[in-house]
Amino acid sequence: MERKDSEDKVSPALRIRGAELVFDDPGVRNTIVFLAEFRPGTGPGEMRAAATFQGLLIREHPDLALPHLLLEGTLDQLEALARREETSYLWPASDDLVRGNPVRGCGGSIGQAILRIGQGWDGAGKGAVELGWTLSRYPSRVPADEALQAVEAALAEWSRWVRVDFRQSGNPSAARHLNLLFAGGAHGDPFPFDGRDGRWRTPFYPAPVNAEPVAGDMHFDDDENWQIGTDTDIYSVVLHELGHALGLGHSDTPGAVMYPYYRRAEKLSEEDIREIQGMYAARTAGTDPPPAPAPTPTPNPPPTVPSAPPPAGTPDRVAPTVTISSPAQTAVVVTAESVTLRGTAKDNQGVSLVTWWSNTAGVGVAAGTTEWSVASLPLMKGTNYIKITAFDASGNASWKSVVITRR
Ligand SMILES: [Zn+2]
Repeated sequence: MERKDSEDKVSPALRIRGAELVFDDPGVRNTIVFLAEFRPGTGPGEMRAAATFQGLLIREHPDLALPHLLLEGTLDQLEALARREETSYLWPASDDLVRGNPVRGCGGSIGQAILRIGQGWDGAGKGAVELGWTLSRYPSRVPADEALQAVEAALAEWSRWVRVDFRQSGNPSAARHLNLLFAGGAHGDPFPFDGRDGRWRTPFYPAPVNAEPVAGDMHFDDDENWQIGTDTDIYSVVLHELGHALGLGHSDTPGAVMYPYYRRAEKLSEEDIREIQGMYAARTAGTDPPPAPAPTPTPNPPPTVPSAPPPAGTPDRVAPTVTISSPAQTAVVVTAESVTLRGTAKDNQGVSLVTWWSNTAGVGVAAGTTEWSVASLPLMKGTNYIKITAFDASGNASWKSVVITRR
């Protein structure tokens, strides 16, 4: 059955909660605390004006990402906000958000609770896979063996539920390999960190959404206050980002590891398990146990990430040019749940890298350079903004964008 647009904008979990409230005490004006995401391009002032116009109370929380507001109101006020053009999605607030506790936001959009990004490492259907992994650069504020144990525990928690086996390997740039690194500032990819807060982690989805060798990798800003067992807890963050590295998007259910705002996590929720078992073969109890974690090796000193050599002679200041050949128009309307983009890039010294950014799926690296492609990029209902950037070895860059509306 075709649902009306404004109904698509309200999380089913939120509607159930609203109905419960009314049922609990029909005589009382019960309110719900929820998160609102607004369409890209909506300014903070417009977001606040829209909420206030509907009579909603704005709850301030310092850790919210830019397109989000934490709001309190009745189910009727919430439904009225959903009918507004600038509203993208409404979903339940977690207890930590309601109480004003500090949280980490994964950033970007929830995109109407896109639960899967691509098909996972096993392709279509539900298969078993083996992936390599390395902690190639250790956090500087936490003892190396404790950081390694936290990463191993997060790997084991996903591996407990699906037939995804992780083998520690020494080759961080291999294909089908998750390279975890803690680094400050620029660290060899086009998404540099910026000191404490701001951009603080970059997960890369499985190929082909992200091209190898960066597919599945997880980069963490070493300038954050990393800890073991308290905020910012390495295990909890790696557990969430591993979900992305295996192909999961965000969940709109508070308590799920894949909820976009989180603090501490111990284990996967029923929803996380259901979603990951929708992508990979379930691990049955008693058979095919996950491999025992490899003995902890003595950590190596952090290797330096290779970066481009400084150009000799006159600095190259000529930016590459980039084109998007598919889709052929800069604004298109589709019904598909994902899109494959293709194009070309040129540069006087050579194109070193082509990246993508989308307001739905985050950031990633395209396959190829002079002829590049991004396969199966997920689209949310409504407006999707996608930006393609080409870099040369001197760091010069230029970009093109496309707006794809999914009906
Ligand atoms: Zn996330």
